[in-house]
Parts: sequence; C-alpha cells; structure tokens
Amino acid sequence: VKNYNIEQGIKTAAERYLQEIYELATTPYTVMEVCGTHTVAIAKNALRDILPSQIRLVSGPGCPVCVTDSSDIDRFLYLAAQPNVITATFGDMIRVPGSKKSLQMLRGEGADIRIVYSTLDALELARKNPTKEVVFLGVGFETTVPTVAVSIESAKNEGLKNYSVLSMHKLVPPVLRALAEDPETKVDGFLDPGHVCAIIGTKPIEFMAKDYNKPGVVTGFEGVDVLEGLVMLLRQRAQGRSEIEIQYQRMVKPEGNPVAQSFIDKVFEPVDAAFRGLGTIEQGGLGIRKGYEDWDAEKKFDLPVFETVEIPGCRCGQVLKGQIAPPQCPLFGRKCTPLAPVGPCMVSSEGSCAAYYRYAQRS
Ligand code: SF4
Repeated sequence: VKNYNIEQGIKTAAERYLQEIYELATTPYTVMEVCGTHTVAIAKNALRDILPSQIRLVSGPGCPVCVTDSSDIDRFLYLAAQPNVITATFGDMIRVPGSKKSLQMLRGEGADIRIVYSTLDALELARKNPTKEVVFLGVGFETTVPTVAVSIESAKNEGLKNYSVLSMHKLVPPVLRALAEDPETKVDGFLDPGHVCAIIGTKPIEFMAKDYNKPGVVTGFEGVDVLEGLVMLLRQRAQGRSEIEIQYQRMVKPEGNPVAQSFIDKVFEPVDAAFRGLGTIEQGGLGIRKGYEDWDAEKKFDLPVFETVEIPGCRCGQVLKGQIAPPQCPLFGRKCTPLAPVGPCMVSSEGSCAAYYRYAQRS
C-alpha cells in the first residue's frame, strides 16, 4: 500500500474495463447517460472516441437547467419584473432564454436579480432586506431539493415571511418512465444518476429494469466510473439480466438517504410538471405542500399561466431525449455557441451541447 500509485491504479483499471467492453460489445448497444455531470465526464475524458463503435452513448434529460420549460422561465421573468422583488437564482439559469428574453437581459433593464451559491445565501438576502420580497428560483432534481426544503423550514421557524420559493423542481423516476414509453427514444440501458440516487436510492427506479426491460447502473462521475458502469451494463446483457445495479457504491445505498427524503416529503409533494422537449409529465415535479403556502411564491404572487414557446431552430428537445447528438443540430457551433447560446443545452455547463462544443466530441 505504501508505494501504491493511485494514478497508475486508475489507468490500469480503466484499461481493464475498456478491454472488457471491447470483448462484450459484440452487437450494437445504446446507453443513455441520464445526468448532465455524466455528459461532462464522458466528453471531458473523450470516452466516445475510445469506445468500440458498437457502443453508442446518448445524453438524457438530467441537466436541470436544460429541462426547464420556456413557460417556467417566463414565470421567472414575470416574478423578477415585479416591484419590490429580489430574485435569487443559481448562475446557469440567468442566461437561459424564455419566450422573449432571459433573466440576464431583464437584469440589464434594472430588475434586482442576484446569483446565489446556496439557499443559505438566499435566506440571508431575505434577512438583510426585510422590506423586500426575496424569491428563490427552485430548479433542480432530487439532489438539490433537500436544501431548498430546509430553507423553507428554516424560514417558517424563524417567521421570515419575505422569503419564498418558486418550485420548478423535477423528479427523475417519472422522466425515466416517459423515456421508456417514448417509441422514438431507443435506448438499451441507462447510466443512472449517482447524485440523485444518493438521495432516493435505487428502489424508485427499479421499475425500469422490471417493467420495461431497461437495465441501469447507478454510476459515479470519474471517467473510470463510467467505464465500469458500461462494463456492468454489458455484463447484464451477456448474462440475460435486467437489473438496477450500483457502481457508485462509495456514495449510493439501495435505500438512499432517508433523512434527506424526509425533508423532501415534509415540504414538497409530487405535481405534474412541464419539461422542455418532453411535454408535461404526470407527477414529474414537486410543488410546495399545504402548511407552507406563505413560502410558496406560486401562491404568494398569483402567477399567470404562460404557454410553452419553442426556440426557432433549437433542437434541445431531441437532444434531451437522446434522439440526436448536439452536432446534428444545424445551429450547433454556427449560430449557437457557449458565448452566444440559442438554447439551454448550450447555456448550462452541464448541457450536452455545451459539453460537446467544449470538448469537441464526435457524434
Ligand atoms: Fe439548441 Fe444550440 Fe443545442 Fe442546437 S446547439 S439544440 S440550438 S442549444
């Protein structure tokens, strides 16, 4: 152990996994990486370039900024334009276009929109600005929801009435079901999201393997994790199995994190949710429960309903369903780049289009 070289160990493991992938990839196999962090890991490590041609990796809907529907961004814009409101948001969200403009453009027009790094920052904004309404834009999957739930609970306990959350949170299991039922999404197996499963565990996604014959491996975020996840999927195919397995055992347990789950369940409840490119998914999102109405921006501000508006020429919807690779969008790298993004998949650091562009992957 004393002389063990970690880098050499990882390299050896990666070579071993790669060799096994070549041995097992006897016929075509399409794998969807659900999580945006996987998309970045795959692009950064140029895994598409070193895998056998029988293995096709397609990106999925796990980038929370990317799946936020234009109608929800228009609601953010409506809220942010209200007098006496400070809007608090994570950084990526600010550049995503709604039907007419982005939060960044609205900020240029004078709206008070602040970038925060955690819900603690947003709570602090509310404490420091007691005459203003501070609204946190709740975007993200199960990974980020517990901290938002804690912020609402804290505001309630403190009696901090000028803090609220507009919940646009999404849930992974319903979106996986929607993909499994979409005849145009042709995926054989899934690299399931490590961060989300660290919270929810594997039980809520077992139906994918059992009911839809779509095996999955909950995978970590290093290049070598992804290679091992692929080996585990291919072994399942070779052995005629369809199961949800855990590669990311250093973080994920089958039962997930019960404490985080209890925070989510206490404050939030499943509601139908609009996903960019996928339409409305039944019980696909989280709304704020009764008893917390005073911290629910939806109730507090009586928001109007906005229609979904497609961005002309943007094919993010197909990218998010794994139906096309980003370079197949005619705007990719021409009219749409990270400096001048047309759609959200190019805005977010976890978006497929941005990852493909930054690391120049082949499709
Ligand atoms: Fe949309 Fe740009 Fe991606 Fe094309 S390259 S799908 S326009 S984000």
